[in-house]
Amino acid sequence: MAAVHAKDTGPELALRRLVYGMGYRYRLHAKDLPGRPDLVFRPRKKVIFVHGCFWHRHEVCLYATMPKSRTAYWQAKFAANVARDRRNARDLKKAGWRVLTIWQCQLKQPNNVAKRAHEFLKSDH
Ligand SMILES: [Zn+2]
Repeated sequence: MAAVHAKDTGPELALRRLVYGMGYRYRLHAKDLPGRPDLVFRPRKKVIFVHGCFWHRHEVCLYATMPKSRTAYWQAKFAANVARDRRNARDLKKAGWRVLTIWQCQLKQPNNVAKRAHEFLKSDH
């Protein structure tokens, strides 16, 4: 597995290029929104999160490995990450935002991601 950073920008950059190439314009990391979404489409009231599979615990994903040592520590840390993600998504939706989450591993198939992002962004609801 590649180097693990809390804020690995690789997948995020890939998505940004993809969405930008589709002609959509966005802002990055809006500090005033729950969870500081990676891509913010304010006029559409939509946000996209790009989640690293390891840190955000993509279910049934081979990248969401469990470290062999200090397992209890990691489990607590991961549980907190997942709880925070859920809370952020819920708070955003309550405030009328629509939320799309793209997982790091999905970016290996950029065409699929592009299709999903397009479906998400073009709709009015
Ligand atoms: Zn994954």
